[in-house]
Amino acid sequence: MKAPAKSSGSSSPAVSIPAPSAAADPGPTPGEREGLDLFALLAEHEHEQVSAYYDPSTGYRGIIAIHSTVLGPALGGTRFWSYPSDTAALVDCLRLARGMTYKAAVAGLNLGGGKSVIIGDNRTTRREGLFRAHGRHVESLKGRYITAEDVGTGTGDMEYIKAETNHVTGLIGTSGDPSPVTAYGVYRGMKACVRYRSGSDSLAGKSVALQGCGSVGYHLAKLLRAEGADIICTDIDPQRVKRVVEECGAKAVASDAIYDVRAAIFAPCALGAVINDATVPRLQVEIVAGAANNQLALDRHGDLLERRGITYAPDYVINGGGLINVNAELHGWAPERARSKAGEIYDTLLRVFEIAREEGIPSHQAADRLAEQRIAAIAQVRRNFV
Ligand code: NAD
Repeated sequence: MKAPAKSSGSSSPAVSIPAPSAAADPGPTPGEREGLDLFALLAEHEHEQVSAYYDPSTGYRGIIAIHSTVLGPALGGTRFWSYPSDTAALVDCLRLARGMTYKAAVAGLNLGGGKSVIIGDNRTTRREGLFRAHGRHVESLKGRYITAEDVGTGTGDMEYIKAETNHVTGLIGTSGDPSPVTAYGVYRGMKACVRYRSGSDSLAGKSVALQGCGSVGYHLAKLLRAEGADIICTDIDPQRVKRVVEECGAKAVASDAIYDVRAAIFAPCALGAVINDATVPRLQVEIVAGAANNQLALDRHGDLLERRGITYAPDYVINGGGLINVNAELHGWAPERARSKAGEIYDTLLRVFEIAREEGIPSHQAADRLAEQRIAAIAQVRRNFV
């Protein structure tokens, strides 16, 4: 049990439930043939609601998963991906939606967790019909779910969605690139990690092994440089490495060599699952703190870091700046307010480490505990009719 589940709301009109067959033995339903046990999956992933919608005119096949609306409307991006099966798409959607609940909860935002997937080839050029169908699907949930960009979708797609619903963010000319806010949150999170270990939060003279010099990595490198940190960086794109070397005085290493760098901090800002059986024994750092999503290949890799005495800043806590930026767009916050909110990641991480110490659990579990505490507390406050 992770988050307190609300009782199920009424189903979206988009959900179709096949009527029982008149035949004596209807045989397995399509879902059963695939081994899809829908309600068992919802129970396992503790979701409030799942909506599936099919539009034959465009070939749109979409799923929207709402994990929790205890803290507010469920927010999460639309992933456009060619899944091997409908079950794989559903499970991915459920898993990602739950992650959003936790991310919003620890960021102190009044948002719940949701996600949607569109099944198909995201390179298609026939986007308007598809995304307008998705927009209608989002609209059918009447604001319980708000969407945004994710893998396979872009701002242009959000504009198509906007033609059908107001429950969409990340539009052209609005909050813009979230990377500077995300990088600032990661920078503040790194300072909290250093303070937790040494009492001082200065990054001056600290070495940081930076994996990924993309949007977040670049802005992070600038902040680190300004504070006098030494940067060792890598990227598979030589141009991006060059920019960080030239502008931030970084030293470059080959892609795979980043795991062997002796440094204070390893900052994964490229890919997920980089903390795994192969890399944990190689790390020669005190802290892992970076922007990438899903850094731990498996939860037990967080335990392994802990056993090696490496302080791990849970990814969804330290990279919450992107979501804070979206929230800023929803509420019309000025950029300074979004940045200041991202700066609070410093205190949140210190609280995570405190819970970890008090309860004798690894930091990734402590972060879940913190999110669950907030959700439970707010659910309690809202239990009466007002
Ligand atoms: P990006 O695509 O701009 O940058 C990623 C960089 O990683 C690219 O330069 C790419 O060449 C590099 N890369 C890919 N594979 C690599 C490898 N094997 N070794 C070294 N470098 C490699 O993405 P971004 O927006 O900077 O995001 C970075 C990470 O942070 C992603 O995991 C993203 O999901 C996560 N994140 C980003 C934001 C945001 O606001 N952009 C918010 C939260 C989380």
